[in-house]
Amino acid sequence: MDHVGIMDFCGTHEWTITHYGLRSLMPDPIRLIAGPGCPVCITPAHYVDELIKLCMDGVHVLTYGDTYRLPGSSDKVRSLAHAKSLGGKVTIVYSVLDAIKRAKANPNEEFVFFAVGFETTAPSTASPVYREVIPRNLKLLIAHRLTPPIIRYLFDNVPEVSLQGVIAPGHVSTIIGASAWEFIPREYNVSAVVAGFEPMDVLIAIYLIIKDLIDGKPKLHNEYGRAVSYEGNLMAKTMLNEVFEVIDAPWRGIGVVRSSGYVLKDKFRVYDAAFEYGIDLTKDVDLALPKGCRCGEVVLGKVEPTQCPLFMKVCTPRNPYGPCMVSIEGTCRIWAEHGGYVIKNLNI
Ligand code: SF4
Repeated sequence: MDHVGIMDFCGTHEWTITHYGLRSLMPDPIRLIAGPGCPVCITPAHYVDELIKLCMDGVHVLTYGDTYRLPGSSDKVRSLAHAKSLGGKVTIVYSVLDAIKRAKANPNEEFVFFAVGFETTAPSTASPVYREVIPRNLKLLIAHRLTPPIIRYLFDNVPEVSLQGVIAPGHVSTIIGASAWEFIPREYNVSAVVAGFEPMDVLIAIYLIIKDLIDGKPKLHNEYGRAVSYEGNLMAKTMLNEVFEVIDAPWRGIGVVRSSGYVLKDKFRVYDAAFEYGIDLTKDVDLALPKGCRCGEVVLGKVEPTQCPLFMKVCTPRNPYGPCMVSIEGTCRIWAEHGGYVIKNLNI
Protein backbone atom coordinates (compact mmCIF):
# COMPACT_ATOMS: atom_id res chain seq x y z
CA MET A 1 0.00 0.00 0.00
CA ASP A 2 1.74 3.21 -1.12
CA HIS A 3 -0.69 5.49 0.63
CA VAL A 4 -3.50 5.50 3.17
CA GLY A 5 -6.57 7.10 1.60
CA ILE A 6 -9.04 8.53 4.11
CA MET A 7 -12.19 10.07 2.69
CA ASP A 8 -13.82 12.93 4.56
CA PHE A 9 -17.31 12.63 3.16
CA CYS A 10 -18.76 15.85 4.42
CA GLY A 11 -18.18 19.40 3.13
CA THR A 12 -17.99 20.63 6.72
CA HIS A 13 -15.21 18.15 7.51
CA GLU A 14 -13.39 19.33 4.38
CA TRP A 15 -13.82 22.89 5.64
CA THR A 16 -12.27 21.96 9.01
CA ILE A 17 -9.40 20.09 7.35
CA THR A 18 -8.61 22.90 4.92
CA HIS A 19 -9.32 25.87 7.18
CA TYR A 20 -7.10 24.51 9.96
CA GLY A 21 -4.43 23.16 7.61
CA LEU A 22 -4.82 19.57 8.84
CA ARG A 23 -3.95 18.12 5.42
CA SER A 24 -0.53 19.75 5.56
CA LEU A 25 0.12 18.12 8.99
CA MET A 26 -0.36 14.58 7.70
CA PRO A 27 2.72 12.42 7.21
CA ASP A 28 3.32 11.45 3.60
CA PRO A 29 1.42 8.18 3.27
CA ILE A 30 -1.83 9.66 4.61
CA ARG A 31 -4.02 11.27 1.96
CA LEU A 32 -7.14 13.08 3.07
CA ILE A 33 -9.57 12.87 0.16
CA ALA A 34 -12.58 15.17 -0.05
CA GLY A 35 -15.81 13.31 -0.82
CA PRO A 36 -19.25 13.98 -2.30
CA GLY A 37 -20.74 15.60 0.82
CA CYS A 38 -21.97 18.82 -0.76
CA PRO A 39 -25.66 18.55 -1.71
CA VAL A 40 -25.57 21.69 -3.83
CA CYS A 41 -22.64 20.41 -5.93
CA ILE A 42 -24.49 17.25 -6.95
CA THR A 43 -27.98 18.67 -7.53
CA PRO A 44 -28.80 17.94 -11.18
CA ALA A 45 -28.59 20.86 -13.60
CA HIS A 46 -31.98 20.04 -15.13
CA TYR A 47 -33.68 20.74 -11.77
CA VAL A 48 -32.25 24.27 -11.95
CA ASP A 49 -33.28 24.57 -15.61
CA GLU A 50 -36.87 23.64 -14.75
CA LEU A 51 -37.00 26.18 -11.93
CA ILE A 52 -35.59 28.88 -14.20
CA LYS A 53 -38.39 28.17 -16.67
CA LEU A 54 -41.00 28.33 -13.91
CA CYS A 55 -39.76 31.59 -12.42
CA MET A 56 -39.67 33.21 -15.87
CA ASP A 57 -43.27 32.04 -16.36
CA GLY A 58 -44.44 33.82 -13.21
CA VAL A 59 -44.19 31.04 -10.62
CA HIS A 60 -42.40 32.38 -7.53
CA VAL A 61 -39.35 30.18 -6.79
CA LEU A 62 -38.15 30.06 -3.19
CA THR A 63 -34.61 28.79 -2.70
CA TYR A 64 -31.86 28.50 -0.11
CA GLY A 65 -29.03 30.98 -0.62
CA ASP A 66 -26.65 28.21 -1.74
CA THR A 67 -28.76 27.09 -4.67
CA TYR A 68 -29.49 30.66 -5.77
CA ARG A 69 -26.22 30.84 -7.71
CA LEU A 70 -26.06 27.18 -8.73
CA PRO A 71 -25.55 26.93 -12.51
CA GLY A 72 -28.03 25.03 -14.64
CA SER A 73 -27.11 23.76 -18.08
CA SER A 74 -27.91 26.82 -20.19
CA ASP A 75 -25.47 29.57 -21.09
CA LYS A 76 -28.31 32.01 -21.72
CA VAL A 77 -29.79 31.98 -18.21
CA ARG A 78 -27.19 30.39 -16.00
CA SER A 79 -28.79 30.32 -12.56
CA LEU A 80 -31.78 31.43 -10.51
CA ALA A 81 -29.79 34.55 -9.58
CA HIS A 82 -29.33 35.30 -13.27
CA ALA A 83 -33.03 34.62 -13.93
CA LYS A 84 -33.96 37.08 -11.19
CA SER A 85 -31.80 39.76 -12.81
CA LEU A 86 -33.82 39.16 -16.00
CA GLY A 87 -37.16 39.60 -14.22
CA GLY A 88 -37.78 36.07 -12.91
CA LYS A 89 -39.57 35.67 -9.58
CA VAL A 90 -36.99 34.27 -7.17
CA THR A 91 -36.57 34.82 -3.43
CA ILE A 92 -34.02 33.39 -1.01
CA VAL A 93 -35.57 31.79 2.08
CA TYR A 94 -34.04 30.31 5.20
CA SER A 95 -36.30 27.29 5.64
CA VAL A 96 -39.42 25.55 4.41
CA LEU A 97 -41.27 27.31 7.26
CA ASP A 98 -40.21 30.63 5.79
CA ALA A 99 -41.54 29.42 2.41
CA ILE A 100 -44.87 28.44 4.01
CA LYS A 101 -45.16 31.86 5.65
CA ARG A 102 -44.63 33.62 2.32
CA ALA A 103 -47.12 31.42 0.47
CA LYS A 104 -49.77 31.95 3.15
CA ALA A 105 -49.23 35.71 3.05
CA ASN A 106 -49.73 35.72 -0.76
CA PRO A 107 -52.57 33.27 -1.45
CA ASN A 108 -53.06 34.41 -5.05
CA GLU A 109 -49.49 33.64 -6.06
CA GLU A 110 -48.02 30.22 -7.03
CA PHE A 111 -44.82 29.23 -5.19
CA VAL A 112 -42.26 26.44 -5.53
CA PHE A 113 -39.72 25.64 -2.81
CA PHE A 114 -36.44 24.06 -3.94
CA ALA A 115 -35.85 21.40 -1.26
CA VAL A 116 -32.16 20.50 -1.43
CA GLY A 117 -29.97 18.66 1.06
CA PHE A 118 -29.00 15.30 2.54
CA GLU A 119 -30.74 13.46 5.40
CA THR A 120 -29.93 16.41 7.68
CA THR A 121 -32.34 18.81 5.99
CA ALA A 122 -34.83 16.28 4.60
CA PRO A 123 -36.73 16.02 7.94
CA SER A 124 -37.38 19.77 7.93
CA THR A 125 -39.05 19.32 4.52
CA ALA A 126 -40.87 16.17 5.61
CA SER A 127 -42.29 17.64 8.82
CA PRO A 128 -44.83 20.16 7.34
CA VAL A 129 -45.79 17.63 4.64
CA TYR A 130 -46.42 14.99 7.32
CA ARG A 131 -48.45 17.46 9.38
CA GLU A 132 -50.22 18.66 6.19
CA VAL A 133 -49.70 22.33 6.99
CA ILE A 134 -48.52 23.38 3.53
CA PRO A 135 -50.85 25.78 1.71
CA ARG A 136 -52.12 24.63 -1.71
CA ASN A 137 -50.35 27.47 -3.53
CA LEU A 138 -46.91 26.10 -2.45
CA LYS A 139 -45.33 23.07 -4.14
CA LEU A 140 -42.04 21.38 -3.27
CA LEU A 141 -39.36 20.40 -5.76
CA ILE A 142 -37.67 17.56 -3.90
CA ALA A 143 -33.92 17.25 -4.55
CA HIS A 144 -32.94 15.48 -1.31
CA ARG A 145 -30.22 12.87 -1.56
CA LEU A 146 -29.11 10.01 0.69
CA THR A 147 -25.53 9.59 1.81
CA PRO A 148 -24.81 5.87 2.47
CA PRO A 149 -25.69 4.90 -1.15
CA ILE A 150 -23.09 7.27 -2.60
CA ILE A 151 -20.36 5.83 -0.35
CA ARG A 152 -21.42 2.38 -1.49
CA TYR A 153 -21.26 3.66 -5.09
CA LEU A 154 -17.69 4.85 -4.50
CA PHE A 155 -16.53 1.50 -3.17
CA ASP A 156 -18.32 -0.43 -5.94
CA ASN A 157 -17.68 1.81 -8.96
CA VAL A 158 -14.64 3.96 -8.37
CA PRO A 159 -11.82 1.51 -7.58
CA GLU A 160 -9.16 4.04 -8.59
CA VAL A 161 -9.97 6.00 -5.41
CA SER A 162 -8.47 3.58 -2.93
CA LEU A 163 -9.91 4.09 0.55
CA GLN A 164 -8.58 2.70 3.81
CA GLY A 165 -10.94 4.73 5.99
CA VAL A 166 -14.03 6.92 5.87
CA ILE A 167 -14.84 9.87 8.11
CA ALA A 168 -18.63 9.65 8.07
CA PRO A 169 -20.74 12.80 8.20
CA GLY A 170 -21.67 13.97 11.69
CA HIS A 171 -24.71 16.13 10.87
CA VAL A 172 -26.32 13.45 8.71
CA SER A 173 -25.66 10.84 11.39
CA THR A 174 -27.62 12.79 14.00
CA ILE A 175 -30.63 11.74 11.90
CA ILE A 176 -29.72 8.35 10.42
CA GLY A 177 -27.58 7.17 13.36
CA ALA A 178 -24.08 5.72 13.49
CA SER A 179 -25.56 2.32 12.64
CA ALA A 180 -26.13 3.50 9.04
CA TRP A 181 -22.37 3.18 8.43
CA GLU A 182 -21.92 -0.35 9.73
CA PHE A 183 -21.85 -1.67 6.19
CA ILE A 184 -18.45 -0.03 5.56
CA PRO A 185 -16.35 -2.27 7.86
CA ARG A 186 -18.67 -5.24 7.36
CA GLU A 187 -18.80 -5.26 3.56
CA TYR A 188 -15.68 -3.34 2.52
CA ASN A 189 -13.29 -4.18 5.35
CA VAL A 190 -12.56 -0.50 5.97
CA SER A 191 -12.96 1.53 9.18
CA ALA A 192 -15.58 4.26 9.40
CA VAL A 193 -15.65 6.96 12.06
CA VAL A 194 -18.66 9.20 12.64
CA ALA A 195 -16.93 12.41 13.64
CA GLY A 196 -17.68 15.92 14.86
CA PHE A 197 -16.37 19.06 13.21
CA GLU A 198 -13.74 20.48 15.54
CA PRO A 199 -10.15 19.93 14.37
CA MET A 200 -9.65 17.56 17.33
CA ASP A 201 -12.66 15.47 16.24
CA VAL A 202 -11.14 15.01 12.79
CA LEU A 203 -7.70 14.18 14.20
CA ILE A 204 -9.21 11.57 16.54
CA ALA A 205 -11.07 10.05 13.56
CA ILE A 206 -7.80 9.81 11.61
CA TYR A 207 -6.05 8.29 14.64
CA LEU A 208 -8.78 5.64 15.03
CA ILE A 209 -8.60 4.69 11.35
CA ILE A 210 -4.81 4.35 11.44
CA LYS A 211 -4.93 2.36 14.70
CA ASP A 212 -7.47 -0.07 13.18
CA LEU A 213 -5.26 -0.43 10.11
CA ILE A 214 -2.24 -1.27 12.24
CA ASP A 215 -4.33 -3.72 14.33
CA GLY A 216 -5.81 -5.19 11.15
CA LYS A 217 -9.33 -4.81 12.61
CA PRO A 218 -11.58 -2.43 10.67
CA LYS A 219 -14.46 -1.13 12.79
CA LEU A 220 -17.21 1.43 13.05
CA HIS A 221 -16.56 4.14 15.67
CA ASN A 222 -18.82 6.89 16.86
CA GLU A 223 -16.47 9.71 17.84
CA TYR A 224 -19.38 12.19 17.82
CA GLY A 225 -21.28 10.57 20.68
CA ARG A 226 -22.14 13.99 22.09
CA ALA A 227 -24.61 14.46 19.20
CA VAL A 228 -25.04 11.11 17.43
CA SER A 229 -26.68 7.98 18.81
CA TYR A 230 -26.42 4.51 17.38
CA GLU A 231 -30.02 4.50 16.13
CA GLY A 232 -30.28 8.18 15.18
CA ASN A 233 -33.40 10.31 15.52
CA LEU A 234 -36.23 7.79 15.43
CA MET A 235 -38.98 10.38 15.14
CA ALA A 236 -37.28 12.02 12.15
CA LYS A 237 -36.63 8.65 10.52
CA THR A 238 -40.29 7.64 10.92
CA MET A 239 -41.40 10.90 9.35
CA LEU A 240 -38.99 10.46 6.41
CA ASN A 241 -40.35 6.97 5.81
CA GLU A 242 -43.94 8.21 5.94
CA VAL A 243 -43.42 11.11 3.53
CA PHE A 244 -40.78 10.00 1.02
CA GLU A 245 -40.21 7.13 -1.32
CA VAL A 246 -36.62 6.15 -2.10
CA ILE A 247 -35.68 6.25 -5.79
CA ASP A 248 -32.64 5.70 -8.01
CA ALA A 249 -31.65 9.35 -8.35
CA PRO A 250 -29.32 11.37 -10.60
CA TRP A 251 -26.29 13.11 -9.06
CA ARG A 252 -24.70 15.84 -11.11
CA GLY A 253 -21.36 14.82 -12.58
CA ILE A 254 -21.86 11.22 -11.46
CA GLY A 255 -25.07 9.82 -12.97
CA VAL A 256 -27.87 7.75 -11.46
CA VAL A 257 -27.05 6.21 -8.10
CA ARG A 258 -29.15 3.36 -6.80
CA SER A 259 -31.62 4.12 -3.97
CA SER A 260 -30.02 7.50 -3.34
CA GLY A 261 -32.85 10.05 -3.52
CA TYR A 262 -36.27 10.95 -2.25
CA VAL A 263 -39.54 11.81 -3.97
CA LEU A 264 -42.84 12.55 -2.26
CA LYS A 265 -45.12 9.54 -1.88
CA ASP A 266 -48.23 9.52 -4.06
CA LYS A 267 -50.51 10.43 -1.15
CA PHE A 268 -48.67 13.78 -0.88
CA ARG A 269 -48.84 14.58 -4.60
CA VAL A 270 -50.85 17.69 -3.89
CA TYR A 271 -47.59 19.28 -2.63
CA ASP A 272 -45.39 17.92 -5.39
CA ALA A 273 -43.95 20.42 -7.89
CA ALA A 274 -42.68 17.55 -10.06
CA PHE A 275 -46.23 16.22 -10.42
CA GLU A 276 -47.81 19.67 -10.79
CA TYR A 277 -45.42 20.89 -13.50
CA GLY A 278 -44.50 17.57 -15.15
CA ILE A 279 -40.83 17.54 -14.10
CA ASP A 280 -38.99 14.22 -14.38
CA LEU A 281 -36.81 14.02 -11.26
CA THR A 282 -35.38 10.63 -12.15
CA LYS A 283 -34.28 11.51 -15.67
CA ASP A 284 -30.85 10.10 -16.46
CA VAL A 285 -29.36 13.19 -18.04
CA ASP A 286 -25.91 13.75 -19.41
CA LEU A 287 -23.47 14.95 -16.78
CA ALA A 288 -24.44 18.57 -17.41
CA LEU A 289 -21.29 20.18 -16.10
CA PRO A 290 -20.07 23.37 -17.76
CA LYS A 291 -17.42 22.72 -20.43
CA GLY A 292 -14.07 21.92 -18.82
CA CYS A 293 -15.42 21.69 -15.25
CA ARG A 294 -14.09 18.64 -13.38
CA CYS A 295 -16.55 18.84 -10.49
CA GLY A 296 -17.80 15.28 -11.11
CA GLU A 297 -14.28 13.99 -10.51
CA VAL A 298 -13.71 16.34 -7.56
CA VAL A 299 -16.77 15.06 -5.66
CA LEU A 300 -15.69 11.46 -6.19
CA GLY A 301 -12.18 12.19 -4.93
CA LYS A 302 -10.58 11.38 -8.30
CA VAL A 303 -8.92 14.78 -8.64
CA GLU A 304 -8.24 17.78 -6.42
CA PRO A 305 -9.59 21.24 -7.27
CA THR A 306 -6.13 22.45 -8.29
CA GLN A 307 -6.12 19.84 -11.06
CA CYS A 308 -8.96 21.67 -12.76
CA PRO A 309 -7.45 24.15 -15.25
CA LEU A 310 -10.29 26.59 -14.54
CA PHE A 311 -9.69 26.76 -10.77
CA MET A 312 -9.21 30.37 -9.65
CA LYS A 313 -8.93 31.48 -13.28
CA VAL A 314 -12.34 31.18 -14.92
CA CYS A 315 -13.95 29.77 -11.76
CA THR A 316 -13.79 31.74 -8.49
CA PRO A 317 -16.02 32.07 -5.40
CA ARG A 318 -17.23 35.44 -6.68
CA ASN A 319 -18.00 34.07 -10.16
CA PRO A 320 -18.55 30.32 -9.79
CA TYR A 321 -18.38 28.57 -13.14
CA GLY A 322 -18.90 25.02 -11.86
CA PRO A 323 -21.16 23.69 -9.10
CA CYS A 324 -18.34 22.83 -6.65
CA MET A 325 -17.42 26.53 -6.39
CA VAL A 326 -20.91 27.69 -5.34
CA SER A 327 -21.64 26.43 -1.85
CA ILE A 328 -19.57 26.88 1.29
CA GLU A 329 -19.58 23.07 1.39
CA GLY A 330 -18.14 22.71 -2.12
CA THR A 331 -14.56 21.43 -2.20
CA CYS A 332 -13.44 23.94 -4.85
CA ARG A 333 -14.89 26.86 -2.92
CA ILE A 334 -13.34 25.63 0.34
CA TRP A 335 -9.92 25.27 -1.29
CA ALA A 336 -10.29 28.67 -2.96
CA GLU A 337 -11.23 30.47 0.24
CA HIS A 338 -9.15 28.68 2.81
CA GLY A 339 -5.93 28.10 0.99
CA GLY A 340 -5.82 24.32 0.84
CA TYR A 341 -4.14 24.62 -2.50
CA VAL A 342 -1.62 27.23 -1.36
CA ILE A 343 -0.52 25.09 1.57
CA LYS A 344 -0.25 22.04 -0.64
CA ASN A 345 1.66 23.82 -3.38
CA LEU A 346 4.14 25.21 -0.86
CA ASN A 347 4.65 21.66 0.35
CA ILE A 348 4.78 22.82 3.99
FE1 SF4 B 1 -15.65 22.91 -11.70
FE2 SF4 B 1 -14.82 25.31 -10.89
FE3 SF4 B 1 -14.16 23.19 -9.46
FE4 SF4 B 1 -13.10 23.53 -11.87
S1 SF4 B 1 -12.76 24.83 -10.10
S2 SF4 B 1 -13.93 21.63 -11.02
S3 SF4 B 1 -14.77 24.54 -12.97
S4 SF4 B 1 -16.22 23.96 -9.81
